[in-house]
Amino acid sequence: MAHRFALMITPVDAADARDDYAETFSTIDVAAPALSVGELSTQRGDGVFESIGVIDGHPNEVEAHVQRLAHSADICDLPAPNLAQWRQAITIAAAHAPAGEAVIKLILSRGVEHGPAPTAWVTASVAPDYVAVRRDGVRVVTLDRGYDLGAGERAPWLLLGAKTLSYAVNMAALREAHRRGADDAIFVTNDGYVLEAPTASLIIRSGDEFLTTAPSAGILHGTTQLSVFEHLESRGFQTRYATLTTRDLTQADAAWLVSSIRQGVAITAVDGAPLASDPILTAELNAFLLSPR
Ligand code: PLP
Repeated sequence: MAHRFALMITPVDAADARDDYAETFSTIDVAAPALSVGELSTQRGDGVFESIGVIDGHPNEVEAHVQRLAHSADICDLPAPNLAQWRQAITIAAAHAPAGEAVIKLILSRGVEHGPAPTAWVTASVAPDYVAVRRDGVRVVTLDRGYDLGAGERAPWLLLGAKTLSYAVNMAALREAHRRGADDAIFVTNDGYVLEAPTASLIIRSGDEFLTTAPSAGILHGTTQLSVFEHLESRGFQTRYATLTTRDLTQADAAWLVSSIRQGVAITAVDGAPLASDPILTAELNAFLLSPR
């Protein structure tokens, strides 16, 4: 992902309301080193992030992303981010984002050990080209997440609902999916419930109802899933959060992975067995997701 722009942020207190946070921002050279070697928290993945889809300079669903940043920070006991400051940083990054499809990343890490404040920055980059995958879909394999449906509530230190910087497990799951001849993975609890993909939410269709796993299962509440549900409801479909089994997925009338940059991709096979897909609805969902929202 080619970085085009980066802005370091000196986080201010959430209660510090200002008309302009410009003096807390500094543009940095994307090719130059920027983090200190004392930045242990970032090395440990002890921080949170967001990836926002940008279409021709318009960042989509900014409010849902900054709210989730605050939610993730809260789960991780990080100081509450000043959302007005982050919104302004996003506006600046969007103005420097490349044309077409781009990505703005927000990063908030605990910072230098015993340091005065968290470390925060925003980048704007060219998005990968997902045109073919939106058209052709993905084959998924189900992978055991290694814990049951109650783990998130029983063990909050697993930080399951937070979008933390620690994505090593998610990347390992994608490599395992590729080793098994698939394109992507769906995590499944060890008591048989489907959760989410390593970088996307799962939506399944059963008749005229669209279902997704409830965030209380210890998954990320997807901003794209929220938008898709709103859109489907406006078209008269039913939507619902549920506990979904592997069988619900394999018996679905159609299923999608949805996320902010890749948008909507149809699941065409689960563990080697073909799954029905709906190319017209997939194209329609992507037309909606790629419009300014
Ligand atoms: N679940 C996980 C684990 C993710 O990493 C992501 C996005 O990266 C999502 C779900 C989808 O979230 P969003 O639609 O907000 O991009």
